[in-house]
Amino acid sequence: MPTHDGLIIGGGISGLALAHWLGLHANPGTWELWEASDRLGGTIGTDRANGYSVDWGPNGFLDREPLTLQLVDEIGLRDSLEPANDQSEARFIVKNGRLHPVPFSPPAIITTGLLNPAEKLRIFAEPFIRARRDDSDESVFDFAARRIGRGAAETFVDPMVSGVYGGVAKELSLPSCFPIMREMEVQYGGLVRAMIAKMRQKKREQRAAGVPKKKSGSAAGPGGRLTSFRSGLDVLVMRMGERLKPLIRLSRSVQRITRLGDSWQVTAAGCEPQNFRHVILACPTFSAAHMLREFDRELAIALDAIPYAPIVVVATGHRREDITHNLNGFGFLIPRTQNLRCLGSIWTSSIFADRAPGGHIQFRTMLGGAGDPSVMELTDDQLWQTIRSELNPLLGIKADPVFTRIYRWQQGIPQYTLGHRERRTKIEQLTAHHPGLSVVGNAFYGVGLNDCVKMAHRLAQKIRTPQEVPA
Ligand SMILES: Cc1cc2nc3c(=O)[nH]c(=O)nc-3n(C[C@H](O)[C@H](O)[C@H](O)COP(=O)(O)OP(=O)(O)OC[C@H]3O[C@@H](n4cnc5c(N)ncnc54)[C@H](O)[C@@H]3O)c2cc1C
Repeated sequence: MPTHDGLIIGGGISGLALAHWLGLHANPGTWELWEASDRLGGTIGTDRANGYSVDWGPNGFLDREPLTLQLVDEIGLRDSLEPANDQSEARFIVKNGRLHPVPFSPPAIITTGLLNPAEKLRIFAEPFIRARRDDSDESVFDFAARRIGRGAAETFVDPMVSGVYGGVAKELSLPSCFPIMREMEVQYGGLVRAMIAKMRQKKREQRAAGVPKKKSGSAAGPGGRLTSFRSGLDVLVMRMGERLKPLIRLSRSVQRITRLGDSWQVTAAGCEPQNFRHVILACPTFSAAHMLREFDRELAIALDAIPYAPIVVVATGHRREDITHNLNGFGFLIPRTQNLRCLGSIWTSSIFADRAPGGHIQFRTMLGGAGDPSVMELTDDQLWQTIRSELNPLLGIKADPVFTRIYRWQQGIPQYTLGHRERRTKIEQLTAHHPGLSVVGNAFYGVGLNDCVKMAHRLAQKIRTPQEVPA
């Protein structure tokens, strides 16, 4: 049986980006990419119907990661990029049945209706809170409560964590989910000090380079502007798929991986086993665990220890005249303290105008997450009732939607819960015992598309020059 150069298992952004960074579009050798489903993209997908364009999962990436922009350039999609509208900058948080703008400046914090006076004062005390030097793990919630107070943590940080991870801030690890925040505390002594230092440094750099002021991110999240492609995010994976076509084998669900001499024997459902020198697991860790359970039980258990949160995306299309809110903004998040079932809603057509036909608008509302897994058991009708009862009063929606789509992600987003760093290290150590076997994907160093592209780049360099690139 011939031994092939390598196999990438999983055709989501991680597997596709790895194939790209390995240069397989130009020089495929005998590499292959096997994808279990009959399409590429994993959680990236877009439906187009009735003039609506609806992303199933992610709706874009932040334009701050040079490697993602480099990839976009290299696959010839730079001209198709679509940055979020300027008008979508404002973000809202729900409190007591009303939308409140997220306060991004000290005067806005003073006047916001989201916090009481004591909670506001506590935020302003942040620069005087001593940095924690202990490097042991800490939850996102505990970090935020320690630095900006419990009220602000519940109001801003908990819903932000549901929005990004579908997670619960008290369960997720700060250094694993938001390593930049931990660095800000360690390096500068606190978040405000770090922001001031970084702003000064940026201004100095801009002055030195003579460049005009660049748009930066808001206080609600990491810097960068949400960016997608005209008509939908799947443009990215479709283009990558076209370029990598000779490698791609769809509907190839890997069942088993074993060692055979110097190579790996891989068996997919309904196929004869094949041999590869390199095997890269670019699939969810629970799938990887299943493939490896006979060959290395300890590694399979370690992979299986990374939990995933379920998430439901409900897209609705409405006639503009049926909604009284002006919809100038990005959308809103709902803190757990408000006892509503929706996690938040994105005003998709305010962000990217071409996602709804003229005179119509599109929302994408998220439910579930690690804090409410039973959402997966709701029928379509129950989901509608929930959304109708929670969204209609908030936005002044006067009529039922004219377009709907529901996407259920049973194991949607990996959760970097407390202890994630140790779990990740264990997987890396166990994998290192198996030359030619590697893991990549959103379960390790970040769930954003940028993180996936970056990790794939690092692995591609390592595969090409094993000695030169640190793990
Ligand atoms: C609802 C939702 C909204 C999100 N929003 C954003 C956002 O706005 N911005 C952002 O940056 N990120 C967002 N994310 C996160 C981001 O989409 C993911 O982290 C990223 O797409 C994961 O890519 P991946 O390739 O690592 O994994 P996946 O996309 O999960 O791909 C893994 C692939 O492996 C395949 N596979 C599984 N088992 C096997 C097997 N046995 N054999 C062969 N193939 C197999 C799967 O079919 C799949 O195609 C969102 C995620 C979700 C769920």
